[in-house]
Amino acid sequence: MTLAKAHVIGAGVAGLSAAVALAKAGVAVSVSDSAAQVGGRCRSYFDPQLSMMLDNGNHLVMSGNRAVSDYLAIIGASDRLVGPDEAAFDFCDLETDERWTIRPNPSSLAWWVLSPSRRVPDTMAREYLGLIGLLGPKAGLRVDQAIACKGPVWRRLMEPFLLAALNTKPEDGSAALAAAIVRETLAKGGSAYRPRIAEPTLASAFVDPAVAYIEAHGGVVQTGRRLRSMEFDGSRVTKLVFSDGEETVSTDVAVILATPPWTAQDLIPGLSAPDEFRAIVNGHFKLAPPHAMPAMVGVIGGVVEWIFAFPDRISVTVSAADAIVDLDREELARRLWADVAAVHDLPPELPEWQIVKEKRATFAATVEQDEKRPEAKTAWDNLILAGDWTQTGLPATIEGALRSGFKAADLARGMALV
Ligand SMILES: Cc1cc2nc3c(=O)[nH]c(=O)nc-3n(C[C@H](O)[C@H](O)[C@H](O)COP(=O)(O)OP(=O)(O)OC[C@H]3O[C@@H](n4cnc5c(N)ncnc54)[C@H](O)[C@@H]3O)c2cc1C
Repeated sequence: MTLAKAHVIGAGVAGLSAAVALAKAGVAVSVSDSAAQVGGRCRSYFDPQLSMMLDNGNHLVMSGNRAVSDYLAIIGASDRLVGPDEAAFDFCDLETDERWTIRPNPSSLAWWVLSPSRRVPDTMAREYLGLIGLLGPKAGLRVDQAIACKGPVWRRLMEPFLLAALNTKPEDGSAALAAAIVRETLAKGGSAYRPRIAEPTLASAFVDPAVAYIEAHGGVVQTGRRLRSMEFDGSRVTKLVFSDGEETVSTDVAVILATPPWTAQDLIPGLSAPDEFRAIVNGHFKLAPPHAMPAMVGVIGGVVEWIFAFPDRISVTVSAADAIVDLDREELARRLWADVAAVHDLPPELPEWQIVKEKRATFAATVEQDEKRPEAKTAWDNLILAGDWTQTGLPATIEGALRSGFKAADLARGMALV
């Protein structure tokens, strides 16, 4: 029996990539999301306070993210990511007012660490050798048990890099997840980690073209449609109970559950899933960036970690932001702007601002939480999981979410239909 149809529950990028892959293979897909708009954590929206489109978080992907490339190619959106031709990362240390640019060479033979003008100031090439400690098998270890978390290479390169990738205090992070990121970026050479940002919005790259692709291939994408419960019969899901009615699941239909972990745990009895999360705070300042302002600057020794220059605004990101997420919004705006003004020599007066807090931005990328991530395959023949929190081997990233969606689609097509 072939797969006649798939229900995809949750239209974040994991659910969308599953639906896109199935639509491409000629399977009828029905995508349902409980929210008023699709995209999940990758949604973009009009912000009335600033009168402009904002992304739900400044999102960065890397040129070497293969699922990102594959997904954008399928949905015809490969041209929606922008970034430099060569890997280059500007940094500013607010404690010393030093500025520098890391310039990795494109190949995996990392000769850039031999060049004082390309590496972190005041470091020696041999100090980078310690990072090799991250590349071996690291099951069950924290980052601080795998490499030395001190010294300038750590503070000015690995700490900001891993903090952004893990959204977890890097020392406490899982060395296996950190190693997965390092293997796919630093170890492959600069051509694999040229930074890429969606333009003009996240949704224009990752969401809107996917919905158009699914619909053009006969699929249906519905918002405001919450999955409330599922009925099971032995080895299969037999019924989906949505906010607007019930659907019987016949034997040639697959269900891909691509909701957040806490929803999946409510829907599936006894499911193991991450249950500790880390916040991300974004600040948006309505000010056209000065002409020479770099697209992205890493900040050392401030509250802000990354500053992004968009055509109509300056935006900042603070990862693993649990210590500040509950602060008053104006207080946050002032603290974040103080860092931006110091880094870019801008007036201290606060421009029009918006603060966006995501308390459960990603699961905590610790050893304990990684061990709670379930595989895509479930105990039920026609029920498959997707999402950045499932066991992808990567931290919670767009790349991981997309890979999980593609994998779920493969499993749905190959599942034993009884
Ligand atoms: C502020 C912020 C910044 C980030 N920065 C980066 C970055 O720079 N680079 C990067 O790679 N990643 C980044 N991430 C992580 C990235 O956004 C996520 O990994 C990715 O979007 C997860 O997609 P997903 O589909 O797994 O989950 P989600 O996007 O959470 O999608 C789940 C969907 O399920 C829906 N849903 C929930 N319950 C139900 C229900 N009962 N019925 C139907 N639908 C339901 C939700 O509405 C949602 O649309 C960031 C995240 C945040 C929050």
